[in-house]
Amino acid sequence: MAKDKKLVEAITAMEDDFAQWYTDVVKKAELADYSSVRGCMILRPNGYAIWENIQKVLDAKFKETGVENVAMPMFIPESLLNKEKDHVEGFAPEVAWVTHGGQKELQERLCVRPTSETLFCDFYSKIIQSHRDLPKLYNQWVSVVRWEKTTRPFLRTSEFFWQEGHTAHATAEEAEARTVQMLNMYADFCEQYLAIPVVKGQKTEKEKFAGAHATYTIEALMHDGKALQSGTSHNFGDGFAKAFGIQYTDKDNKLQYVHQTSWGMSTRIIGAIIMVHGDDSGLVLPPRIAPVQTMIVPIMQKKEGVLDKAEEIRKKLASSYKVKVDDSDKSPGWKFSEQEVRGIPTRIEIGPKDIEKNQAVIVRRDTREKIIVSLDEIETKLGEVLEQMQSDMLERAKKHLAEHTVEARNWDEFKAHIEKQDGFVKAMWCGETECEEAIKDETTATTRCMPFEQEHLSDVCVHCGKPAKKMVYFGKAY
Ligand SMILES: [Zn+2]
Repeated sequence: MAKDKKLVEAITAMEDDFAQWYTDVVKKAELADYSSVRGCMILRPNGYAIWENIQKVLDAKFKETGVENVAMPMFIPESLLNKEKDHVEGFAPEVAWVTHGGQKELQERLCVRPTSETLFCDFYSKIIQSHRDLPKLYNQWVSVVRWEKTTRPFLRTSEFFWQEGHTAHATAEEAEARTVQMLNMYADFCEQYLAIPVVKGQKTEKEKFAGAHATYTIEALMHDGKALQSGTSHNFGDGFAKAFGIQYTDKDNKLQYVHQTSWGMSTRIIGAIIMVHGDDSGLVLPPRIAPVQTMIVPIMQKKEGVLDKAEEIRKKLASSYKVKVDDSDKSPGWKFSEQEVRGIPTRIEIGPKDIEKNQAVIVRRDTREKIIVSLDEIETKLGEVLEQMQSDMLERAKKHLAEHTVEARNWDEFKAHIEKQDGFVKAMWCGETECEEAIKDETTATTRCMPFEQEHLSDVCVHCGKPAKKMVYFGKAY
């Protein structure tokens, strides 16, 4: 038993040190590991399988709306990156450069893509001529590189995986509609599949994407009261089109600039899953995104018939669920710990006594509730348990978000809330970047978003007292 406990004891308690708890979960659940490349992580099978499931769901949703996948080069010539001024300024500090091909110095440096707007724009300028060529709805699933100073698995790494959608439209209205559509898709995905409620809103001028006309974001709240930007959707207007000369002839044969969007979700979202749902025993995966939904653990598996029964149950469940049998020679206690650390939503315990009674025990990972079910009904019962768990997880996360979102009507209240780092602080703001920067300097809190659902808390800015323009969610963030 001492050995069985070891696996769990290796995880630091959340309350003692949240950052260490996070690192422990990432390692013990075998989601990711550090590599020999500075700032780059290795996605291990347990972690990559979650990303694959995220990909599967999102990719199908994208395609339902007409999006097509492409693959662009991973290098961008310096001259191309320099074409849009704000964009290059925004990314220059974290770009990695290729200067040599073999022994020979390159005539023009190539950057390793930090994001691919410039490549898509260059391509669109060549393939878009007429209104008949529009819209273009392209997406790619790739990794990108941003030379980060400090890194943490999933949250900030020099190379990370994501999808980046890039669209070109005939009108500003169409581009805006697509920007909002994709943000809503991300938000629905987070709620329905990841059981993570989000706040939807617009980024301030200071926080928006380099080169964008407007950036929309979904912000999620982690267990420790910090926010995590979980997906963004940008409306570029015709700024990139003008810089790259992307024009089409309209129905009246007039030359027009296209209007563009881009939108992305990355492996960062796995960090959100860990920090929204995890507990002191490890990861807790929402059933709809879990690579393994139930682990069958045979009890006294050497007794005749036990492993056969476990296998029989697996076969029965395999057509409806992602199910595995742990028939390794580890003790059941150790297997339970492993299933818990890895966040597998349920386990099914089956031993000689259960077989005698034609039953099995389903144990929920989140509540540890034990549910005895007849083997005749196990297929439907497991489905019910998983659905219940999925919806309970969302409700708990919603409750946490609601309980950790507070209002600040004056500067003292604001500072007190931020100091506690207890979630989002809603407050009125004057709309001026200088004031936003002063707030950040004094408290380290940043504007997370100007939510689409605005409230009027007072007439004046919480910091400077000037007339208020927007209600803003502030918070400390990853
Ligand atoms: Zn102000």
